Amino acid sequence: MEEGRALVRANGRRALQSPQRLPYDQRVTAAQHETNPFLQIQLPIQWGELHPERIEPAVTALLAEARAALEGIGAGGAAHSYDAVLGVLDEATARLEVVMSLVSHLESTCTGPAIRAAYDAVRPAVSDFYAGIPLDPKLWSALKTYAETPDAKRLSGARRRFLEKTLDEFRRSGADLDDAGKARLRALSVELAEVTSKFSQNVVDATAAFEIVIDDAQRLAGLSQRARDAALAAAESRGRSGWRFGLDAPSYLAVLTYCEDRALREALWRAFATRATAGAHDNRALVAKIVALRHEQATLLGFVDFADYVLADRMAKNGATADAFLARLADKTRPAFERETRELVAFAAAESAGAAPPLAPWDVAFYAEKQRRALFDFDEEALRPYLTADQAIEGVFEVAHRLYGVRIESLPDAPVWDERVRAYAMRDDGGALLGYFYLDLFPRETKRDGAWMGPFVTSLPGAAHAATICANLTPPTETGPSLLTHRELETVFHEFGHLLHHLLSGVEVRSLAGTRVAWDFVELPSQIMENWCWEREGLDLVARHVDTAERVPEALFDKMLRAKNFRAATDQMRQLGFGAVDLGLHRRYQPARDGDIIDYARTIIAAHSVTALPDDYAMIASFGHLFGSPVGYAAAYYSYKWAEVLDADAFTRFRAEGIFSREVGASFRSELLARGDGEDPLVLYRSFMGRDPDPDAMLLRSGLL
Ligand SMILES: [Zn+2]
Repeated sequence: MEEGRALVRANGRRALQSPQRLPYDQRVTAAQHETNPFLQIQLPIQWGELHPERIEPAVTALLAEARAALEGIGAGGAAHSYDAVLGVLDEATARLEVVMSLVSHLESTCTGPAIRAAYDAVRPAVSDFYAGIPLDPKLWSALKTYAETPDAKRLSGARRRFLEKTLDEFRRSGADLDDAGKARLRALSVELAEVTSKFSQNVVDATAAFEIVIDDAQRLAGLSQRARDAALAAAESRGRSGWRFGLDAPSYLAVLTYCEDRALREALWRAFATRATAGAHDNRALVAKIVALRHEQATLLGFVDFADYVLADRMAKNGATADAFLARLADKTRPAFERETRELVAFAAAESAGAAPPLAPWDVAFYAEKQRRALFDFDEEALRPYLTADQAIEGVFEVAHRLYGVRIESLPDAPVWDERVRAYAMRDDGGALLGYFYLDLFPRETKRDGAWMGPFVTSLPGAAHAATICANLTPPTETGPSLLTHRELETVFHEFGHLLHHLLSGVEVRSLAGTRVAWDFVELPSQIMENWCWEREGLDLVARHVDTAERVPEALFDKMLRAKNFRAATDQMRQLGFGAVDLGLHRRYQPARDGDIIDYARTIIAAHSVTALPDDYAMIASFGHLFGSPVGYAAAYYSYKWAEVLDADAFTRFRAEGIFSREVGASFRSELLARGDGEDPLVLYRSFMGRDPDPDAMLLRSGLL
């Protein structure tokens, strides 16, 4: 669930994005129909026909179509039935949404000048269109008129929820503001988009601007051959001799974790901790600016602070609940965290025979890795020969079959966007088609980083959905198959969980279907799947030695389990610190009272750190999750831990009744996976578990209770 693994969300405003009915050929003129494949998307998708030059005309036509549909709502006083108001709202943007998901997908997986230009050309108009929907006074008036009708009062289930969420979403987006308020809101949005974009660019530029080039091979002691080769190549590609290290994750982590040279570790750590705090790429003032703009936005819309504004439609509901959630976890984690710190300090002292100075921030990862090896003798690379990508795929299909009764068939002749992409159909046990999906698992130069599930088509019950999983797993070599790390195996299971959430959707309102749920709930279906990778029975379905077909030996499996929770409290405290600083800045921080924002943030993070932090520590100046986009994970960093609590707790039912229990699987499918956002997530959770989430479940799983 770290950056890059988050589920991809479609463009624009989620609650207002309407799903679409197949076939898509309503409301299109015959001429458009004949000439533009983007306007006649059918399943399975004819990828070969989707040329970049067709994008702009298609999106222009679909924007006009959506505008016309929205303008029709309430026209001539027709605001008395669900179908005439919410039904149209749910449907109006359906085709636009499908096309934008395909365009954004192609830009992410087969990028090039033509597709990028086409995407950039249409994106502003599409964003502006979505942003304008709740500010349209005629539409808002029609919605409010409808909400007072007897028809509206009789609504139940997902339709009732859709009405309530739509009214709420319009209000939260400024529908009730006067003209001056609306103008100020738009100005704030524009400024936030600019400032956060500048923040991101500064991080990228500051990261790229830093380097250390080493000439002395002795300073590389401790680094793996792979890390040395990468550093050599990094220098070579810039016409330099020696080994080049930078602040990109692979280089930075390799040095901090393995390099014996303390001065090199310190130099990199200090550069990372002060990234984007100087010269042309200084983000410090931007952090203060972004926090102030968000606060004004929230108060303009009638909220006390930005956290309450953002969390109003999340499970946590408000900032106070999220804050209390993190504080409770921190209290419970602290004893184990302090014990782990004492043990690390003692280990480091013994290793250096008392000669080393006190543990500094740049020593923590280094000694922790040595300690891990000393305690568990576990090398993650030993698992790789057991984890081929093909078996991982077959294995996750089998898990889905056993739990949810779905059958997956390969479609070798279906069109795809790249020759290595594979297409599949998912069917119910009875043979009914649930949807199509595509697996695009390996890196390409034209594909962006990370792993994600991307929905293409969201249908109403009875019609097929479509989606993709994209990842950048270890690719096959010229002579051998793809061999995965265990972390990569978890990624496959994680994304497949998102995919099931989408393909098994049976929600009658498209805007509430599939994965369009609260951010602090959306990772439950995905994270829970990772648990099967840690169970003997689950692992045996996916892991066979590439040469001998043997299962993972008991001794290796044992080491893997024992090493799993090593320094779990320290990892958790780190995440809780980020969550606490996020809520501190978006709930409590007051410039006049609290002074410099960077100092304020450092104090909070220091309270969750293994060592003291230097005075110029400024991690938030490069914290893209919080400041790299207008909302992003701002006021919501706690969601990672929140979802972990849910998945750890929900898995206890599988544990208790059998990890392949069809009964529990059927219940998880019908109570959770099929329901999307058609009901309050806490209600869905209770109907699966029969009770509220147990806040201690994650602590138990991590060995912290
Ligand atoms: Zn995810």
